[in-house]
Amino acid sequence: MITLLNLPAQYEQLKDEIDDAILKTFQNAQFVLGSEVEALEKEFAEFCNVKYAIAVNSGTSALHLACLNCDLNAGDEVITVSSTFVATIAAIRYTGAIPVFVDIDMNSYTIDADQIEKAITKKTKAIIPVHLYGHPADMEKILAIAKKYDLKIIEDASQAHGATYKGKTVGGFGDIGCFSFYPGKNLGAAGEGGMLVTNSEDIYKYSRMLRDWGQEEKGNHVVKGYNYRMDGIQGTILRIKLRYLRKWNQSRRRKARLYTELLNDLPLNLPNISQNIEHVHHVYPIRTKERDNLREFLNSNDIQTGIHYPQPVHLSTAHKDLGYVKGDFPNSEILAETELSLPIYPELDESAQKKIAKKIKLFFAD
Ligand SMILES: *Cc1c(COP(=O)(O)O)cnc(C)c1O
Repeated sequence: MITLLNLPAQYEQLKDEIDDAILKTFQNAQFVLGSEVEALEKEFAEFCNVKYAIAVNSGTSALHLACLNCDLNAGDEVITVSSTFVATIAAIRYTGAIPVFVDIDMNSYTIDADQIEKAITKKTKAIIPVHLYGHPADMEKILAIAKKYDLKIIEDASQAHGATYKGKTVGGFGDIGCFSFYPGKNLGAAGEGGMLVTNSEDIYKYSRMLRDWGQEEKGNHVVKGYNYRMDGIQGTILRIKLRYLRKWNQSRRRKARLYTELLNDLPLNLPNISQNIEHVHHVYPIRTKERDNLREFLNSNDIQTGIHYPQPVHLSTAHKDLGYVKGDFPNSEILAETELSLPIYPELDESAQKKIAKKIKLFFAD
């Protein structure tokens, strides 16, 4: 069986370091926040080339706190995409603000920056570009629009740790960058985890308060906060893995290049890589109208695949109260109907990729 992910293989590589780190956490009993989480914040801020990082208990919490930092209130509007994990939308709605969708560009699968301006109203407060699959959104255009209309930018970089746009690491373009450390992400915890990054001292201080019950110092609750603290065990494990992340992203790029080479002449849409970006291939998405049949065929040949995501958020039951209907965002809908994610992770070996490509060829030869 070739699985979509192989987290045990990652653990095997790091077993000694991780086991030792977990043991130390039990010995020093820093189970919530603590020195390892603080060190992770420093190191992750450095990795993203920003001044500050605030560790939280999930990517969703990071997005929620980012929205609160943009002073979103009921009825305010936030421009984003329907082609994302539902958490992006949920975080906006936790504040009472309204997500306003813009279609995606089919080359990058990220927000079509040319369609943002027509979605702006007097109520628009922020834009959330999502660096989907590890491909950065077109930040130069988005930054120019945000400046022109005085809007905040929150980057959802949950799938793009270490990706660059014009040489600069994502997360550091907007007012706030948000990351998820869900286990299968390019940098994954042994459970839940997330991070906000920013260059603003105000955002840094406010976010630290919000994640820990609104305390300015212990016992002094100055705002209504949350329990969004990161566990010490996650901090210590993420510190270890962060040291391998650049190498792992390199390895993902090699895997992606090999897939592209092997699948090039088939009737498939392969992922494009825009100029001036460095992709981190959280997902290797191929597209075909035969998606469901191909998926079943690969499954019957012991090859697991994924779909990211089968439902564009604007057509989900959960968010149908936003009032969107089928046809509103044709590209997002096409992506949901045709996308298939092939296994991609640093430990995936070449022979497995060749086997996958061979089976896909066989499928189309029939
Ligand atoms: C994973 C993910 C999230 C949510 O992160 P969690 O850590 O699972 O809460 C948000 N947005 C995107 C694009 C994601 O891929």
